[in-house]
Amino acid sequence: MGYYEFTLSVPDESKDALLARMSDMGCLGSFERGGKVMAYFEDSHDIIKLRDAVKSFSDVLADSGLNGGFSFEYQYLSERDWNESWKKRFVPIDVGENLSILPPWEKSSHGRIALIIDPGMAFGTGHHETTRMCLSFIEKVARFSAKGSFLDVGTGTGILAIAASYLGYERVVAVDIDPLAVDASKRNVGLNGLSNIDIQEGTISNVRGSFDVIGANLMSEVLVKIAPELSSRLNDRGVSVLSGMLTGQEKEVIGAAEHAGLRVVEEVHDGRWVSLIVEKGSEEHG
Ligand code: SAH
Repeated sequence: MGYYEFTLSVPDESKDALLARMSDMGCLGSFERGGKVMAYFEDSHDIIKLRDAVKSFSDVLADSGLNGGFSFEYQYLSERDWNESWKKRFVPIDVGENLSILPPWEKSSHGRIALIIDPGMAFGTGHHETTRMCLSFIEKVARFSAKGSFLDVGTGTGILAIAASYLGYERVVAVDIDPLAVDASKRNVGLNGLSNIDIQEGTISNVRGSFDVIGANLMSEVLVKIAPELSSRLNDRGVSVLSGMLTGQEKEVIGAAEHAGLRVVEEVHDGRWVSLIVEKGSEEHG
């Protein structure tokens, strides 16, 4: 298997919207290098269709009032070239108070809890702000929540579920609508040698039972949509960490969460991104 590497010059204001579209189309991952955005697709995609779809985003961006003026080029990468460019990119990252994300070829986590994540095929390597924000919040929530059960909606690489297991949640369930993410997260759970994580293809409505904590790092439209279900799947006094909203979009998510009976206990902004801790119940947590 090989890959297509897209190099995009995108106005800052349009970057996230464009990447969200690319991700919907099956983009394996992306990062910024020298002011450009690099994005990767498997070569099973029809490159002409892919190219035309990327071109058409210009109108999609303009329709949402964003700057649609971007340019791009692409090239084919062999598996080996892709691995090399990918590996160079994935250095260990420390997150929160005591977590560290390591690719499988790194050994040391300097005494921190090591989450081993093969960045191969899915979103969630810790190189994105929303993942890091989510992990920090999950680490924080783990200090006060009940630890019976944790649900990760949209698990990607499995990173949040893996963190939850290390942080002491007894039963961890993870779902993703993307079969590639399901495979990747299973592999990562295996790399970490964890046995209490159940990974399923699907979304929150496919999962049975209720949970002490639910983590969901998803686009705001999805968070809005699943808010009622999310609330109904939380145990009393259950807590949810919501991430993946762009600044400005959090209002809609907060509205949907409150409507569903959840209360915001903490909100954090990091650059363009917003994460929330919401709670089912009425008492403050510090
Ligand atoms: N949890 C990881 C990955 C987040 S990316 C992290 O925090 O980094 C979002 C993931 O959610 C993707 O893998 C995508 O396939 C999945 N997803 C998108 N919509 C979903 C939905 N409605 N239900 C379940 N998973 C969904």
